[in-house]
Amino acid sequence: MSGSHGTFELLGQHGEHEQVVFCHNKDVGLKAIIAIHNTTLGPALGGTRMWNYRNEEEALVDVLRLSKGMTYKAAAAGLNLGGGKAVIIGDPKTMKTEGLFRAFGRFVNSLNGRYITAEDVGTTVREMEYVFMETSWVTGIPKAFGGSGDPSPYTAHGVLMGIKASAKEKLGADSLKGVRVAVQGLGNVGFHLVEYLATEGAEITVADIDMDKVKRVADRFNCRTVAPDQVIFADCDVLAPCALGAVINDQSIQKLNTKIVCGGANNQLAEARHGDMLRELGILYAPDYVTNAGGLMNVFVELEGYSPDRALDKTVQVYDNLMKVFAIAKRDGIGTHTAADRMAEERIATIGKLKQTHQGVSLRPFSTLKEMKNR
Ligand code: NAD
Repeated sequence: MSGSHGTFELLGQHGEHEQVVFCHNKDVGLKAIIAIHNTTLGPALGGTRMWNYRNEEEALVDVLRLSKGMTYKAAAAGLNLGGGKAVIIGDPKTMKTEGLFRAFGRFVNSLNGRYITAEDVGTTVREMEYVFMETSWVTGIPKAFGGSGDPSPYTAHGVLMGIKASAKEKLGADSLKGVRVAVQGLGNVGFHLVEYLATEGAEITVADIDMDKVKRVADRFNCRTVAPDQVIFADCDVLAPCALGAVINDQSIQKLNTKIVCGGANNQLAEARHGDMLRELGILYAPDYVTNAGGLMNVFVELEGYSPDRALDKTVQVYDNLMKVFAIAKRDGIGTHTAADRMAEERIATIGKLKQTHQGVSLRPFSTLKEMKNR
């Protein structure tokens, strides 16, 4: 390690990971780290991020943090999956080659299904095809290979369910008709979310830094528009961040003009304390990783043998998952962000104990797991 901390010191600081694998192939220039955080519920699933990290320490900290996040996300989603993640150190603009990703695929394969990969920041379906040449333990592959393709419509459908649950909890509303929703970001998730919201009869306000997207969406779905730097302060019932992380921060929080924050973006709270502040302000926060789990549910269905209908059906679960989070928050007098963590930890503890009782008996994580292995 070239950084100032030792590897084991960093491992200790960033949670109790089961296994961390350093992958190196000099011929193709591969430097990667696979982190398996927890496999109590099932194989560790998480994407492969390719990033120009400044040093190995930065890459290790990132992969440890992200893999732990996946454990919580899968557990809160009610999936039989654990948490893992991989990072490839290098510039995704210049260093992607077939050899690099196939070498990486062989390392993934060597873990025999304890880690299942997918695309993430800096990688695309194209590179997953190379990984797939070396291992079956990869999801998010093209539809032509039996994969599930673009996860965003499923993520957006899960967010819609999250907005419905939040509206029920906070506004007592059984329908989104006339509910005022402000959507920040009209990319893959935001676009599909607006489409769903329009069908539900919501009053929609949209913003994006790309004015072409704004015009296209506003014309098609009859939305109000607002400047991108103003959307989070819009007077609305639901603020749906679908662009950047850390939108709820010291600068923005006191100026929010919403009753609910519920969107698809990752890491919406700049810091955990902002979740407590939202609670004090009487704003209901639908924790991001519970709300945006539809994409993960979609790849889980891919592991079982893909069906788009079943994937869409599964994302409806986000409604009940959030209702459980809200109930735990009330039960324990805590913020919803803490309640989500608690829900995930309680599920891992319960299922973990159950597995002790049935030691040696498979809990059948996937109906077609055997088939996957033989593919
Ligand atoms: P995307 O890149 O397709 O869309 C992001 C959009 O936000 C773009 O249109 C961009 O122009 C816009 N944007 C950027 N800065 C903005 C700003 N300051 N104000 C307003 N708009 C701005 O990304 P995506 O796939 O739609 O993902 C959106 C968020 O959801 C990300 O945080 C992502 O991590 C998260 N997420 C996505 C998925 C998925 O299935 N795609 C799953 C889980 C989480």
